[in-house]
Amino acid sequence: MHPLAKLDHRYVWHPFTQMRDWLKREPIVIVEGKGARLWDAHGREYLDANSSIWTNLHGHNHPKLNAAICRQLGKIAHSSALGFANEPASLLAEKLVAAANPRAVQAARMLSKGAGRNPSLRKVFFSDNGSTAMEVALKLAYTVARRTGRSSKPKFLTLEGGYHGDTVGAVALGHIDLFHKAYAGLLFKTDQVMAPYCYRCPFNRAKPERADARDYRKCNWECVGKLEQKFAAQKKRGDPYAAFVFEPLMQGAAGMIPQPCGWLSRAADIARAHGALLIADEVMTGFGRTGLDAVRGTRAFSLFACHHEGVQPDFMALAKGLTGGYLPMAATLTTREVFDAFIGEYDEFKTFFHGHSFTGNQLGAAAGLASLAMLQTGRSRHARQRLEHTLKDELPALWRYPNVGDIRQVGLVAGIELVRDWRTREPFDLRERVGIRVCEALARRGVLTRPVGNVVVLMPPYCTTPAEARRMVAALGEAIAVSTERISAPSPQRPRLLNQATISAP
Ligand SMILES: *Cc1c(COP(=O)(O)O)cnc(C)c1O
Repeated sequence: MHPLAKLDHRYVWHPFTQMRDWLKREPIVIVEGKGARLWDAHGREYLDANSSIWTNLHGHNHPKLNAAICRQLGKIAHSSALGFANEPASLLAEKLVAAANPRAVQAARMLSKGAGRNPSLRKVFFSDNGSTAMEVALKLAYTVARRTGRSSKPKFLTLEGGYHGDTVGAVALGHIDLFHKAYAGLLFKTDQVMAPYCYRCPFNRAKPERADARDYRKCNWECVGKLEQKFAAQKKRGDPYAAFVFEPLMQGAAGMIPQPCGWLSRAADIARAHGALLIADEVMTGFGRTGLDAVRGTRAFSLFACHHEGVQPDFMALAKGLTGGYLPMAATLTTREVFDAFIGEYDEFKTFFHGHSFTGNQLGAAAGLASLAMLQTGRSRHARQRLEHTLKDELPALWRYPNVGDIRQVGLVAGIELVRDWRTREPFDLRERVGIRVCEALARRGVLTRPVGNVVVLMPPYCTTPAEARRMVAALGEAIAVSTERISAPSPQRPRLLNQATISAP
């Protein structure tokens, strides 16, 4: 075993990992990266097929990002945002506000029949990671609801299968039982409502086909009906929801579950009509991940998933890709109205009493600036478009495997749901560890990713070449074939149709 692997075994405790299993084999120790490629301590080469857990955008060791960080390092690495402003954080906040408010989003809302106009996101609160970005949105929305007299005990409506991070407030907003049940006693209560999951939707009357379940579903938008009912019932109780919390276009840790086209704008209209604030968790979807679709009704591009449906939230949480996946930094964008609820005389103590040691970190902000500038070039747009199309062309090859139940792609991310039998959608038991085994077989073929339950995630960095993307999909096909051949026989008992995929790890 490599000496670094030995040290890891002796001292390191890994996240979302059964350490007994971990300690049974030598871990892959990553020592270098370039573009979409990674190298381990033994010099073996891999493709980074999940962008290092959904963070990396432009590839590893990118000369522009390296240079931006080195330039900043030559000045200063960190100074506190408690008491001082700094250069890159000020510049980044300006650029984020510009990117998060494309004029077209206002126009899109004017065109829709929906309720009210879209707000503008004007203020940026920096923190360190996706969970803290959501904690900030949660605390701000809570306080606003109390100060405006909307509710004395503000309640949040969240989506089934939602995942918003692992700090206690973020866990309270999430609904992945496997992760969250253990802490139930620590959490405040939030209501949940059905999230669209066309492949396993109890209202979808379509028989399984070899296509994305969203495309052949037969339903009457019952999921939207459920949402409307929830809001109406809560209003009747005289205590309307303070905020509606959602991952736009695709729920990540739930198993890469995409929303059918039109769900988000309908859901947002309902929430707005009931006066709730919208909290969009764009931690996974932000910065171009959901593709180059134009803002609804216009020809303008946006980097954010919400805008594809013409929705502008009151809070937008950003993290993972904010620094191009280089450094831990996050941001919560919000409106002037929210900001103003915290303005007053010093001794009114309306101050937002929240912050982190590394709020507004200068190295992170410098990386964020360089990443955002790159995303806005025609070259980056072109590369993203090419990768999206390559995935679209290659992924259908996986339909030939009978254990592939659903292939769902949104822009530059895809989830491949593995099932015992595609004809019945019968899921694999989580204990069979099929997702994990497929990913282990993939690693032996030089492609690294991590499953969520029985869903394999492909989310390559934007710099991935068509040849590399083809290699990822081809290797995945082989991995599925070798990992499922012994266990794929449909079981004799009746298929269990789960409402929500059972999940093992993000
Ligand atoms: C990863 C993720 C988070 C949590 O971010 P961390 O940086 O891991 O705390 C929150 N929301 C979504 C949608 C995520 O994918």
